[in-house]
Amino acid sequence: MTSSECSSPRHSDTPESVPFDDRPRPVADAVTTEYWKWIQQEQLRLQWCECCARLIFPPTPYCAGCRTAPSQWRQVSGRGTVVSSGVVRKSFVPGHPPPYAVVWVRLAEQDDLEMVSNFPMEGDRAPTIGRPAQLTFERRDWGLLPQFVPGDSHDE
Ligand SMILES: [Zn+2]
Repeated sequence: MTSSECSSPRHSDTPESVPFDDRPRPVADAVTTEYWKWIQQEQLRLQWCECCARLIFPPTPYCAGCRTAPSQWRQVSGRGTVVSSGVVRKSFVPGHPPPYAVVWVRLAEQDDLEMVSNFPMEGDRAPTIGRPAQLTFERRDWGLLPQFVPGDSHDE
């Protein structure tokens, strides 16, 4: 064995055009499969409880209000408002080098529906509370991930 055979492999056969995405990916279960199916079709659909006449998020096997199993999914606009934000300055998540911003977005359709998302920073600061946000579908190597970006004002 020569010394060159002992050196670390250089992975020269790995194509440069296929970057490995080591960011965490969602894992659908029995309750969230339907949600992720719609996301892959670029639609944000949430569970609808007929009994309480309310949208539900995150997906759940039973409505917290009436304990029935929601069976309908309704499409919503994906528009919302940033209600909380922060900047992660020390990341422990693979593929997310700090700093990066995380926001909670309250959806336009109902006051108690909030989604967490990455979001563009404002310089080195967290996104402004009250800023309009709009859902987009970010392409990852495994499929589409719902992410919010700054949206237009909702004065209508
Ligand atoms: Zn209910």
